[in-house]
Amino acid sequence: MITISVLKETAENEHRVALVPESVGRLIKKGFRVLVQQGAGTTAGFRTMEYEDAGAEIVSDYDKLLQDGEVFLKVQCVCLQDGMMQIVDPFKENSVIIGFFNPFKNINNVEELAQKNMTTFSMELVPRVSRAQKMDALSAMSSAAGYKAVVLAASSLNKFFPMMMTAAGTISPARVLVIGAGVAGLQAIATAKRLGAKVKAFDTRPIVQEQVESLGAEFVSLDVSEEAETAGGYAEELSDDFYRHEQIVIAQQLAETDVVISTAQIFGKRAPLLITEEMVKTMRYGSVIVDLAAEQGGNCEMTVAGKTVERYGVNIHGSTDLPGTLSYHSSEMFSRNVTALLMEMVEEENIKIDLEDDIISGTIMTHEGKILNEHVINLLKQAGETQ
Ligand code: NAD
Repeated sequence: MITISVLKETAENEHRVALVPESVGRLIKKGFRVLVQQGAGTTAGFRTMEYEDAGAEIVSDYDKLLQDGEVFLKVQCVCLQDGMMQIVDPFKENSVIIGFFNPFKNINNVEELAQKNMTTFSMELVPRVSRAQKMDALSAMSSAAGYKAVVLAASSLNKFFPMMMTAAGTISPARVLVIGAGVAGLQAIATAKRLGAKVKAFDTRPIVQEQVESLGAEFVSLDVSEEAETAGGYAEELSDDFYRHEQIVIAQQLAETDVVISTAQIFGKRAPLLITEEMVKTMRYGSVIVDLAAEQGGNCEMTVAGKTVERYGVNIHGSTDLPGTLSYHSSEMFSRNVTALLMEMVEEENIKIDLEDDIISGTIMTHEGKILNEHVINLLKQAGETQ
């Protein structure tokens, strides 16, 4: 029988938990034993009693969690407070650790994980293929962020979102521009439409036009003559000329826009810079930008990651932890994602790591002392070249 240890989060302001009681029940039915660190899940709204009712054992002794556990689940596996060394040091060799490792930021830690013989799965790396949809934690979190970005914008805008017929006359609806209609963008469009705003959106992948329109938004066409999509379903990086042309198209929209939700990303790279300081200056006083790409450098030149700033009368939100503000549902989604990944690997009450499986080989970072992931190996090479 494999023992799973669910660890309490240690990153500052991290309120999510990696496994919720509903998933505990599913894993126990499948033959796992589940230990939950005392207090894990509390800040996401899951009570100790619910974990116990689902069949988990609550453990307050951290050493016991590490000694008995074979598979460790944590949302944020690397954080400033405990650092990689302290996370990894006490673990037994060949432990399996699953969670967000953020290899794009912490690539040098990966070598250490391999040296210590850890088998690690980084949930950021789940490939975007249809068979892996139920494990795709990045998409789940982006969906939460897209929703919350609009709620944040609505509460910070000095206007109503919907059109209103009042005794004082008709109030026109807020105008929202969504840049990038991927997972977060489409959820932002749907949320802004539900709140009654007039929504426009655009994307470098013309294929998303139909999805944008089916949500009731207007698709602003960009003349994309270059190959816009990778085989993995992500956007390709385009030429500087293209981005200059795009900035002109965005600039034409901005004077007429109350809220910009920007979500444009090139997977694993700096986010494209699409809104310059000069463009912010043209926006109406009281307008709002929510820059979801803040952590990847921002789509707006004026964004400060992790902060809300006011520039030229425009409120610019660079929030980087929006899914964490919806800790109950984000935990529920993350928990279902990791459970689906575990179910993929379980064979006769054992964990079988099949490196021929594209989901496993795409998500695994280290195993049996080696770094296995092509993406991670490339990131390491790039980091080596820049040193
Ligand atoms: P995604 O890859 O699904 O969508 C990004 C979209 O941007 C794609 O449709 C792509 O074609 C489009 N795009 C790329 N370059 C563009 C350009 N120049 N102009 C217009 N569109 C362009 O990504 P996602 O999962 O929706 O995530 C979007 C962003 O949100 C990412 O930067 C992600 O890290 C971020 N995010 C932020 C938070 C937060 O709390 N701030 C949480 C989750 C995700």
